[in-house]
Amino acid sequence: QAKRAGRGTYACYSAQLDQHAHENMQLHARLKEAIHRGGLRLLYQPQVDVRSGAIVGAEALVRWTDELLGEVPPGRFIPVAETTGLILPLSDWVLDTACRQIAAWSGAGTPLRVAVNFSAQQFRQRNLPDKVAALLQRSGAQAKLLEIEITESIAMVQPLLAREQLDALVALGCTVALDDFGTGYSSLAYLKALPVSKLKIDRGFIKDIPHDLSDVKISRSIIALAHSLGLTLVAEGVETEAQLDFLREHGCETYQGWLFAKALEAGEFSARLHASSGPP
Ligand code: C2E
Ligand code: MG
Ligand code: MG
Ligand code: MG
Repeated sequence: QAKRAGRGTYACYSAQLDQHAHENMQLHARLKEAIHRGGLRLLYQPQVDVRSGAIVGAEALVRWTDELLGEVPPGRFIPVAETTGLILPLSDWVLDTACRQIAAWSGAGTPLRVAVNFSAQQFRQRNLPDKVAALLQRSGAQAKLLEIEITESIAMVQPLLAREQLDALVALGCTVALDDFGTGYSSLAYLKALPVSKLKIDRGFIKDIPHDLSDVKISRSIIALAHSLGLTLVAEGVETEAQLDFLREHGCETYQGWLFAKALEAGEFSARLHASSGPP
């Protein structure tokens, strides 16, 4: 009987694998179409000064709504893009779109720093810094307004190359933020090796503040660590006033989260920007 159950389990597992592989293939084909036909959108989540409540930046987040599959979350399609090579054309589009938006906001008299998520795969391209420089030039965006968000995984792919690339991007004038801080491996070693100027405290540590005492302690330690290294902080996923109070009390400079706004279309974002800066 055990044997039968075992075989049944295997068959079921294998069917699931098949289905998963099939879904990924379908996702890949449709995503490829979307990239080439302009089917992606880029939204912007405000980054807000904890003390003043003013919008001080934005994180660009990609969105894809497929005709057949509906809205597919980036947590689903980015990993597929990363294993199929589609991440490169996707990232090119994201970067180009973000640079144009930076230039547009500057042109409208409200220059704003925009953070763009970079994938480890992008750092395998030897010409990445040249590519970024060309996009900045073509769009007219100032390099200092482009923030590069990386995770520790980039250093695991090719640590020396990644470091060289980041140094070159910083030499252009870009800034670098370390995303999802505290969730990966050897965070401290990478902090030392990479030209990072900002840490993003992962939502995982924020979401149960102030009830979870370990999260309170970890977040406090991350803030202290960042400040002692001369880095600034962004807390992600802030949803409650109590969380914001905690951040204010402990000197975290910036936050993003649904408490202030979800990721917005550029037009809605501009409206919030004018509202937040008050009457001229
Ligand atoms: P991330 O870079 O850590 O982005 C933050 C995620 O948290 C976003 O999810 C955002 O919508 C979500 N978030 C923000 N505030 C709150 C909040 O208050 N509560 C909750 N529950 N969630 C909040 P999203 O947009 O689904 O993106 C997921 C991940 O996909 C991102 O995590 C990032 O790693 C990746 N991603 C998104 N856009 C891009 C892109 O253009 N390129 C690359 N390579 N990756 C991207
Ligand atoms: Mg990010
Ligand atoms: Mg993050
Ligand atoms: Mg995250």
